[in-house]
Amino acid sequence: MGCVRGAMALWWLIMIIFIVRTRGDIYRDCLSSPIVDKNACKMIAESKLEGSILFTSGPAITEASSDFGGMVKSKPAAVLSPASKLIKIANASPNLTIAARGNGHSLSGQSLALNGVVLNMSSLRGIKIVKKGDGQSYADVKWGELWVNVLRAAQASGLSPKSWTDYIDLSIGGTLSNAGVSGQTYRYGPEISNVLQLEVVIGNANATKCSPENQPDLFYGALGGLGQFGIITGAQIILQRTYERV
Ligand SMILES: Cc1cc2nc3c(=O)[nH]c(=O)nc-3n(C[C@H](O)[C@H](O)[C@H](O)COP(=O)(O)OP(=O)(O)OC[C@H]3O[C@@H](n4cnc5c(N)ncnc54)[C@H](O)[C@@H]3O)c2cc1C
Repeated sequence: MGCVRGAMALWWLIMIIFIVRTRGDIYRDCLSSPIVDKNACKMIAESKLEGSILFTSGPAITEASSDFGGMVKSKPAAVLSPASKLIKIANASPNLTIAARGNGHSLSGQSLALNGVVLNMSSLRGIKIVKKGDGQSYADVKWGELWVNVLRAAQASGLSPKSWTDYIDLSIGGTLSNAGVSGQTYRYGPEISNVLQLEVVIGNANATKCSPENQPDLFYGALGGLGQFGIITGAQIILQRTYERV
């Protein structure tokens, strides 16, 4: 019995040391980074962020310092796998900037954050095809998913989006924050005209569902909004029956 109690006590001691050490490390790393907001560093260290935050140099920082355009170099202080709490912290901080990064295929630095934090949106993917009556099917997609995967998943159910991009290695969040144009745009409009509903994390860290009927200002602001109105964390993309021949 004494042995079991001893083992339990040791386990808790290790856990406490681990938690204190982890928070201490995050705070130290943050202070030694170019993030100038000491208070933000304290809040980051104290909050239980979902996902991991990386301050030191490494491949993730290097990748997040540039985009497909290669014309702008903006080295962030940190890269984070998305965490709604950080959005709240940035909202409350006068200095801390954040930028969502879908697949980094912007050409002019839109997904970069000089001395701020880059949210690595590719960390969460997932597609659920919801098959309904004609014109009512949709793909329920997580923020970091790529169009190529949405097309594959839809096709497997005999469906396809109405509108996508010509180049399909782009993220849902990144293209819906622009417009998303292709050959189909002439017939069905851009991608942003073919969305039923969005989930957007706004400044207070709440994930908010919005649509043309529910919170239309947020819905139309986030679509084509370059991440300035919130972070798109989910989208319902309209699907239609796919043709065997075109
Ligand atoms: C080779 C190539 C081919 C392309 N082909 C096409 C095409 O066929 N059709 C077309 O329309 N465009 C095309 N583009 C342009 C492309 O659509 C945009 O650059 C798009 O934004 C890139 O998507 P991304 O996932 O890489 O987004 P990123 O470059 O990572 O992000 C784009 C913007 O959206 C913001 N953002 C990213 N994710 C989110 C999110 N979840 N919530 C809120 N904001 C977010 C970023 O902060 C940034 O402002 C192409 C670009 C390249 C380089």
